[in-house]
Amino acid sequence: MQISRFAILAVILCPALTILPGHAQSQTAPVKAEAQPPKLEHFDPNVIDKTLDPCQDFYQYTCSKWNAAHPIPPDQVAWGTASGLQYWNEGILRQAMESASVQSSKRSDFEQKIGDYWAACMDEPGLDAAGSRDLKPDLDRIAGMKSKSELAAQVAHIHMSLPGAWQGNDNQTPAALLGYSSTQDLDDASKVVGGIDQGGLGLPNRDFYIKDDAKSKEILTKYQQHIGKMLQLAGENAQQAAADTKTVIAIETAMAQAQMDNIARRDPKNLNNKMSFEQVQALTPSFDWKRYASDIASPPSSPHYIVTSPQFFKEVEQLIQQRSLDDWKAYLRWHLVHGSAPYLSKAFVDEHWDFYSHTLLGSKEQLPRWRRCVRVADRDLGMALGQAYVAVAFPPASKERTVNLLHNVENALDQDISSLDWMQAATKEQAKVKLHAIEDKIGYPNQWRDYSSVKITRGSYLNNVHGATAFEFHRQLDKIGKPVDRSEWGITPPTIDAYYDPQLNTINFPAGILQPPFFDSGMEDAVNYGAIGMIIGHEITHGFDDEGRKFDAHGNLRDWWTPEDAKAYEARGECIAQEYTQDIPEAGVKQNGHLTQGEDTADNGGLRLSFMALTSKLQAEGKSLDEKEADGWTPRQRFFLSYGFSWCEQFRPELMRTQVLTNPHSLPKYRVNNVVSNMPEFQQAFSCKAGTPMVRAQQCRVW
Ligand SMILES: [Zn+2]
Repeated sequence: MQISRFAILAVILCPALTILPGHAQSQTAPVKAEAQPPKLEHFDPNVIDKTLDPCQDFYQYTCSKWNAAHPIPPDQVAWGTASGLQYWNEGILRQAMESASVQSSKRSDFEQKIGDYWAACMDEPGLDAAGSRDLKPDLDRIAGMKSKSELAAQVAHIHMSLPGAWQGNDNQTPAALLGYSSTQDLDDASKVVGGIDQGGLGLPNRDFYIKDDAKSKEILTKYQQHIGKMLQLAGENAQQAAADTKTVIAIETAMAQAQMDNIARRDPKNLNNKMSFEQVQALTPSFDWKRYASDIASPPSSPHYIVTSPQFFKEVEQLIQQRSLDDWKAYLRWHLVHGSAPYLSKAFVDEHWDFYSHTLLGSKEQLPRWRRCVRVADRDLGMALGQAYVAVAFPPASKERTVNLLHNVENALDQDISSLDWMQAATKEQAKVKLHAIEDKIGYPNQWRDYSSVKITRGSYLNNVHGATAFEFHRQLDKIGKPVDRSEWGITPPTIDAYYDPQLNTINFPAGILQPPFFDSGMEDAVNYGAIGMIIGHEITHGFDDEGRKFDAHGNLRDWWTPEDAKAYEARGECIAQEYTQDIPEAGVKQNGHLTQGEDTADNGGLRLSFMALTSKLQAEGKSLDEKEADGWTPRQRFFLSYGFSWCEQFRPELMRTQVLTNPHSLPKYRVNNVVSNMPEFQQAFSCKAGTPMVRAQQCRVW
């Protein structure tokens, strides 16, 4: 699975997956979690705590009762009103795979694949008996290295085998040594070129190596211990593992220091470094790029390569020169074992979970194995497996109603642009051209992916993952030198998320998120506009956020703003960045409002546009926003309550900390309170007086 570097996800839930997608959690179903599966949540005003004051803390008002009644289960790192949906979505895939796992001559080719993938993944006793067996050929390959000139071949092999290993920095499972893939050209979005990105780390980003506060040091120490244990599981003795751990930490720390940070990476201009193949080679003479490209079978047709951070590669060159062959073998062993661990025996799985899910995210217990298998299968075969989900969960009527909702929110942005007092006519015209060029993708792709060339057997889970990774890596590389395929989807149909891709100028809403509590076919418009309408508005405004606004209607990196309008925009964006630069006491860290500025602007714009769209719709139907309904609430109130309800979610403190430090999305409580406190429409809904916390003295507004 890969989406464009600049594609912007809404990231609704499942942080364990979205933060560390390569790190599946695992093992041993806790019986109680199975006995009482969570249900789909529907908006219910009875959960509102009316003893609280909505103008003091709207999130608490909407969510405190629900949160108190739904503590985070031990095998989860977060739990919210959408968690039942995730369980439900996964249950549908499980059923499809389980029934396909019964061996029969009548199975179709694809049923054989998903069935045998499932069987190999679920076979815990078989995996335990195999131990590190499936790792051995690749360990031997590293042991056989005769000189550092073979580094490129080793890295190529790891990239073709392990999920996430070839994907660069933004994947948040940083690649082994470096990231390599296809990417749309920044200046000409119709072209696909080779993209080379920084990578090389085992921790989520560079801050984890560089920050020197007590908590950061503690995590780094635990990471060292984790590397040591993993290397011992792979067969090293304690003394060698200790020495190798030091080497790995030293190499990764040097790489981290040379990396571009994630604030600088928000400006696409900083990443747009075009180089010829010869220039790439000259940047790192000690890394044999020719060998690497030939081993991974990268098409030679790229007109040029985009190297996101040349500085990083200068450091890689230094490291290759300075470090011994044995040091590099240790580094490769670590990345091999790390990337393979989730697909091996219990000892590997447990140790991997202990650091990546327990220490980094706060998980108390491992997920039931079936859920882990479903998630990994969705990653590896999801663009065909998704058919089973759509058949059960996404009837044509749902598609029709969401398409209609989407058009209404797009019209709201058109009106909004017309009415802006800070944007001049020339920029408005360009903004509308871009808005009307957005391609809407709803539910699922028009064409299901053909996985027939992927080899899947019941014999080795790890080998199945190798096969699926090679397929996906080559599918991405095949695009180099060819015209861009606009129809492609970057996330699978059952995914509970959505994204805007500025280089394709598309928004994508998979069927997985068009479900309760976000889209509820049994609910009236006010409830649906408050939940899914806001997410739709959020995605549309990404085309016009601090990153998205730098691309034009065709997806080219081109400045279409007058200098005055750009300045006015930046001042308004800065108001949001300042608002969200705040201490997060429950996470023990401070939020950087410049990291989250794009998402926060999208949240604010999204809720306002959806409210505008609802207002127009009710007006056209002759209905009032402020007339009380049978249950005592007005549609205006239900709009905001449904918004709050769809974001009720509790996080473990470890996850909060990791999220605030690495993720461009604010925590749910702030996504609710910081947004409504900027809106006079909200003030009116609950008669909030000036001076109360939900009415900011200086309200920020971009859209
Ligand atoms: Zn977003």
